[in-house]
Amino acid sequence: MNGTGNYLMLNEMTTLPDGFLDAKPDQLKAMLGSPTLIHLQGKNPRPLFVSTLLHGNESSGLFALQAVLKSYEKKPLPRSLSLFIGNVSAAEQDQRVLEGQPDYNRVWPGTDHADCQETRLMQQVVDIMKKHKPFASIDLHNNTGRNPHYGCVNRVSAQYLQLARLFSHTVVYFTTPIGVQSQAFSAICPAVTLECGKVGELDGISHASRYLDTVLQLDNLPDHNPTDIDLLHTVARVTVNKEMDFSFDGSAEIKLEASIELYNFREVKENTEFAEVSQSESEPFEVQDEQGNNVYESYFKAEGDKIILKKTVIPAMFTRNIDVIRQDCLCYLMEHFEQ
Ligand SMILES: [Zn+2]
Repeated sequence: MNGTGNYLMLNEMTTLPDGFLDAKPDQLKAMLGSPTLIHLQGKNPRPLFVSTLLHGNESSGLFALQAVLKSYEKKPLPRSLSLFIGNVSAAEQDQRVLEGQPDYNRVWPGTDHADCQETRLMQQVVDIMKKHKPFASIDLHNNTGRNPHYGCVNRVSAQYLQLARLFSHTVVYFTTPIGVQSQAFSAICPAVTLECGKVGELDGISHASRYLDTVLQLDNLPDHNPTDIDLLHTVARVTVNKEMDFSFDGSAEIKLEASIELYNFREVKENTEFAEVSQSESEPFEVQDEQGNNVYESYFKAEGDKIILKKTVIPAMFTRNIDVIRQDCLCYLMEHFEQ
């Protein structure tokens, strides 16, 4: 059973349902019923695969897709397009994920999540798409903090980097978390996860729709590394100690430094203050590297009641949204990746 109590079945179709191009995320559940894969024919038969709403409240991808599809209403698509509309149940509630559901971007092949309806459904999507020999795969997301638009890859390889570079010169390479869409598709074709800024920002939607149109019109991806690229890789994930309260205003045990959000994707020098901790001997953060080791002491140290950075890092996805910090994490730490 999934979070809505229904048996979860993949819906597959070859035309857009009536009203899809103007549908809001919260209308898709009623329109589609369940996660849906839509294959649309274009001039070049090798499809571009695009997924969106794996996180139900991240709407920019849907709006970007609708804009592109509207521009081709009266002419053929330059390339076939297979769309996957993910968590329609969560989208109906404007939630990232519903109570009782797994995160739809942690259950793709390669996941360590226990076998469930969602892992089987994502496996089915990959199996179907494999037969269609996709040209490339794009997974569209939003995030909550102040971040530039950027693409993520799970492989450092020319065509993957080229696909990401077409979106932004900032590219992040990551290998954890596992079970993400772009990692599963990396086994089949060049694949990226795109972070299109915050929900509702029009420039994120128009940037993503221009990008999708560009990729649809490409004959192939260059087979050499892009030169003007800022390639970063995540080295650690920072979560707040679950036993401790935190706030940005000093009303809790841990006082987080609010201005760090401004440093997302910028170098933050060693000795920069990250937090203040009152009356506690415990470490305020849990810091895990890509292998899951606790690496707190490599990055942070206490000086009096202040927690300061031990080395220069580049934070990403630092957010001031308390719920997101609790549900997901405080931030990722990155370094430049030397190829
Ligand atoms: Zn997301």
